[in-house]
Amino acid sequence: MTGREKPAARYALCRPCGKRAYLTRKVARAAARAANRGPMQAYPCPNTPEGAQAMWHVGHMPQVVRQGLVGKDKWLKGRR
Ligand SMILES: [Zn+2]
Repeated sequence: MTGREKPAARYALCRPCGKRAYLTRKVARAAARAANRGPMQAYPCPNTPEGAQAMWHVGHMPQVVRQGLVGKDKWLKGRR
C-alpha cells in the first residue's frame, strides 16, 4: 500500500480471486488506465456464480484465455 490510491474507487474484494472487483466494466477500465502498468485490461470475474452479475477485475485474462483454450471474444460474450 502506498496511500496514493483514490479513496473514491468503487470496488469490493473478490474472495475467491483475492483481487479487487469493480462493479462495472467502465470503472474497471478506468482503474486499469490509472494504474498504467502496461497492458492490463478489464475482464469479468471467472468465479462469478452462475446467474449472478459479474464483477470486473483488472489485469491479465484468465489462464484459459491466455493459453488460447478459450477465445477472448467467446470468453467475454459468455460472461455478459
Ligand atoms: Zn473474482
